[in-house]
Amino acid sequence: MYQSKAYAASSATSPLASTTVARRDPTEHDVQLEILFCGICHSDLHQVRNEWKEVMPTVYPCVPGHEIVGRVTRVGSAVTKFKPGDIGAVGCLVDSDGTCPECKAGLEQFCPNITLTYNFPEKHIGGVTYGGYSDSIVADERFVLRVPANLNLAGTAPLLCAGITTYSPMRHWGVTKGKKVGVVGLGGLGHMATKFAHALGAHTVVFTTSPSKKDDALRLGADEVVLSRDANEMAKHAGSFDFILDAVAAQHDINAYIQLLRRDGNITLVGAPEQPLPVSAFALIFGGRSLSGSPIGGIPETQEMLDFCGQHNITADVEVIPIQKVNEAYERLVKSDVKYRFSIDMASLKAE
Ligand code: NAP
Ligand code: ZN
Repeated sequence: MYQSKAYAASSATSPLASTTVARRDPTEHDVQLEILFCGICHSDLHQVRNEWKEVMPTVYPCVPGHEIVGRVTRVGSAVTKFKPGDIGAVGCLVDSDGTCPECKAGLEQFCPNITLTYNFPEKHIGGVTYGGYSDSIVADERFVLRVPANLNLAGTAPLLCAGITTYSPMRHWGVTKGKKVGVVGLGGLGHMATKFAHALGAHTVVFTTSPSKKDDALRLGADEVVLSRDANEMAKHAGSFDFILDAVAAQHDINAYIQLLRRDGNITLVGAPEQPLPVSAFALIFGGRSLSGSPIGGIPETQEMLDFCGQHNITADVEVIPIQKVNEAYERLVKSDVKYRFSIDMASLKAE
């Protein structure tokens, strides 16, 4: 075991503060990364504040962060994919059983014996896993991704969650040229969804509650932008969408979007608000429409997404901050005041 510098929350109401946490020394299949950048996902905030207590209660101290890019510092004797000095990336998963049908299909996100990057039992040294608001992390090489050399690292970190979470359902539901696709909520996930829908050739419509984001939505790849609080603007799109991705982090009326789907259209929820969302049975029944959810993505698809980003030169639009500004960043995230992802420059942790 060794000690790693980190920022942790000690309760649902305390700010994140500097600390150290114990991590395992790399075992034979492990890779150790010096973390260079870590994105701030709204899930970090939900988890730190114990907003998902019914489903995933938070264990304190909690070190969040699952959008990690770093430099390899040590590798175990059996590691073949990486050597010290390489750049590697870690997302929301750090382990799975590797033997179940889901793992064999490359769908590790559905493995019943998954280990998430933070707030999950640490099988080697006990306690819980600690995430990327830290100077280092250790993970099995199966869960360490390769980063295309042309990508900016600060903007690459958010691809590990916001990227794969939006790319995966778009691939699953066949987003391509000739399809009309909606993206609800222009936050960290939504802005990646907009870039992907555009790159996949779909007619892309962004729904936002923030009039100030209209120009950005167009710049990010939207063909049209709808202010979702304007009923007339919404009505113009009734019954016309093949697919809508809902990436809203708070309570909102999803029935207003179900109405916009054409026959057989699908709306997929990736946003995970604290409270259940009421669904109109009639909105689904009359149009033969469907409502789904989607969690992150499997490891092969995460690598595919990173390679796709390399080919299309796609990264997140980031505001790079030092770790010392993390609590301020959380306050701004709640107000949807970030364009469009915070990426923590982990070199700032050296000052602690
Ligand atoms: P974010 O950056 O805070 O973006 C959320 C966006 O939702 C905001 O920018 C805002 O967009 C919109 N919004 C916020 N409050 C709203 C309200 N009251 N009514 C309507 N719209 C509102 O968050 P994120 O990091 O993208 O994460 C989004 C959600 O996805 C979170 O719940 C997160 O936990 C979840 N998530 C799920 C997965 C998964 O695997 N399924 C993975 C990662 C994250 P506008 O200003 O454009 O309206
Ligand atoms: Zn996330």
